[in-house]
Amino acid sequence: MLKINNLHASIEDKSILKGLNIEVKAGEVHAIMGPNGAGKSTLANIIAGKEDYEVTNGTIELNGEDISELAPEERAHNGVFLSFQYPVEIPGVSVTNFIKTAINETRKAKGLEDMPAKDMLKMIREKSELLEIDRKFLSRSLNEGFSGGEKKRNEIFQMAMLEPKLAILDETDSGLDIDALRIVANGVNKLKSKDNAVVVITHYQRLLDYIVPDFVHVLHDGKIVKTGDASLALELEAKGYDWIKKELV
Ligand code: ADP
Ligand code: MG
Ligand code: MG
Repeated sequence: MLKINNLHASIEDKSILKGLNIEVKAGEVHAIMGPNGAGKSTLANIIAGKEDYEVTNGTIELNGEDISELAPEERAHNGVFLSFQYPVEIPGVSVTNFIKTAINETRKAKGLEDMPAKDMLKMIREKSELLEIDRKFLSRSLNEGFSGGEKKRNEIFQMAMLEPKLAILDETDSGLDIDALRIVANGVNKLKSKDNAVVVITHYQRLLDYIVPDFVHVLHDGKIVKTGDASLALELEAKGYDWIKKELV
């Protein structure tokens, strides 16, 4: 699914990623943890194709294809989803209308007609039931006055509707309360399948009480310096990151 090899990247001439390797296969859930400033959000943004970063070395492959030259929209059309891609408030545009447009734009980019309204409605009904999202929420203006939990609900709903191959959830928000954590975790658990992969970026071990990752990686100083199973997250929670830094010297 995703294969990153020797990725080096910088922003404003500051080197941030320094030879990062990771491989994520279909059906897997990976967690990326690490201290603040390690480069976690940088990695997520680079996979999604945000243009502020300069990739100076290495490759990013999605299903065997090098995507590093593609624009963010093209990556999205190829099945890459990054949470908080659409954090904008759009008064007058509902949660549902926004996602309808996004889906039809993706189809258009692939040379397909708009999804028939009946199919769209069916999909909205199925996904919102799966995620226990009520109708009132679907008709609200996008992100307008949304609480932290509602923003998460909207993100997870977008992810459910877009059915990405690779979903990257960057849980940077320090305001994530327990409800928001549960919404994210339930969503991931319900949407994961043998055909997709999920990468959850977090420095909260707590999130991983609800999402059990197949692999946990520690990102430190621009590199993955340790990989383990879910128990590594508990070890990090108990011991912090310093012992890993010490192992490195
Ligand atoms: P993390 O998500 O692991 O906390 P980030 O990827 O956000 O880390 O940041 C990695 C490093 O890159 C930090 O030192 C941060 O200050 C720097 N950085 C991130 N974005 C920018 C930017 N737009 N301009 C300059 N430095 C940045
Ligand atoms: Mg940070
Ligand atoms: Mg971050």
